[in-house]
Amino acid sequence: MRLQSIRSLLPLVLASIATACAKHATPDAAAPGDEAGAPPPTPPRTDVTPRPPGAEDARADVRAPSVPADLDVILLSIDCLRADMPWSGYPRPIAPRLTALEAKSIDYTTAYAMSSYTSMSLGGLLGGKLPGEMRRDGYFFGYYGKENVLFPELLHASRVRTLAAHAHGYFSSAGFEQGFDRWEIVPDLKWNNTTDENITSPRLEALAEKLLSDPALVSTRFFAWFHFLDPHDRYMPHPGIGPYGTTGRDLYDAEVTFTDGYVGKLLDFIASQPWGARTALIVTGDHGEAFGEHGQYVHGFELWENLVRVPLFVYLPGATPRHVDHPTSAIDLAPTILDLFGVAKDAWPDGIDGGGPPGFEGQSLVPEMLGAAPAPRDVVIDLPATSDSDRRRALVHGAMKLIAFGQDSFFQVFDLAQDPGELHPITKGDAFAAMVERYRAFEETVHDIPPTKCTEGCLNRAYLKKKDGG
Ligand SMILES: [Zn+2]
Repeated sequence: MRLQSIRSLLPLVLASIATACAKHATPDAAAPGDEAGAPPPTPPRTDVTPRPPGAEDARADVRAPSVPADLDVILLSIDCLRADMPWSGYPRPIAPRLTALEAKSIDYTTAYAMSSYTSMSLGGLLGGKLPGEMRRDGYFFGYYGKENVLFPELLHASRVRTLAAHAHGYFSSAGFEQGFDRWEIVPDLKWNNTTDENITSPRLEALAEKLLSDPALVSTRFFAWFHFLDPHDRYMPHPGIGPYGTTGRDLYDAEVTFTDGYVGKLLDFIASQPWGARTALIVTGDHGEAFGEHGQYVHGFELWENLVRVPLFVYLPGATPRHVDHPTSAIDLAPTILDLFGVAKDAWPDGIDGGGPPGFEGQSLVPEMLGAAPAPRDVVIDLPATSDSDRRRALVHGAMKLIAFGQDSFFQVFDLAQDPGELHPITKGDAFAAMVERYRAFEETVHDIPPTKCTEGCLNRAYLKKKDGG
């Protein structure tokens, strides 16, 4: 059965469209110059600051998009995919298929993952909340409790078919499978707590094709999620690709090229299917990767830009490709995907206590994707304390970013326009005070939940001291 169509959304959306900014023509709505007039000291949770009248870019065409009424949605996430990719200016052409897809897509050029490593980032993406607001055991490879409501559960309840395939053993124990009709893991993976040597894209792509070959998908709307893992360290060589060189980044780039080839193979399969032309594709990363920035390698533990900025673009059939430059968070993906299926984001199942406030905290990107003027809002990135890491939380407001260390023990503020490498922390003065005030006001709205198993005596490596008798 086909569900409520996106057409039912269009009158609302079209009414709100001021302009459709053509790709590359979108002014950065969150330019640093906006700071002076930046209003409220107590932002609401989603902090939508509408553009003042007259601020719209009137140069672009306004065109009613012809989006299919019976969309399917496929989310393709890629582990460790940094924001600096060929479509955003990285000089080495390491991902031709993704680059071609991005050119047809609505690209969120300043997108943030929910956190800086897989467990927290994807937990937050699925739950549409900060990971610290979700029931979780507190271990680094954390388990999310069944009390959490994940957006695929709402799709499932609305009779959208839900499919997923993954390429790391963690996906069999994370609690992420809630709401999925099919949940497959590439078999025979070697588990290693500190790295990943498996090469999985060929088998993951084959598994994705198998799931997508279900004849029922021709007549049933579906959501599918496939998470590619190969860019994760250890960076494995692949015959016929590069070598680009011998640095970590060179080796990583070859992994991205390898993954891109299998993403491309999957895109070709999707295009060949009877439902291919009505399928929206969302591409993102679960976090970035470090190559020596701030003395760090791989990912996790901190919230520096290279660890949390990721690609985020959406190929929406019938929509005009564009760039949206204001900061955007993966917290918006749950409401966006629900919106694409016409499922209300507050259609919370009866009797479910997710632990925090019901509903999903982000906002649907669908209006923007259909051409509405972007609505700048603050982005929050969250790394709750785990067995192996201390707490970090960051707030991005336009070009300003505050990082809170520990239990808000101290703050650093960065002007990302002037200091994109976050090398010169601002620790006093008006700009610092304004960001701290903004952060504290935001914190008032957060429903943090302590972890259920790894608590005091365990968090932030306390379990090691205990083990040593220290
Ligand atoms: Zn990851």
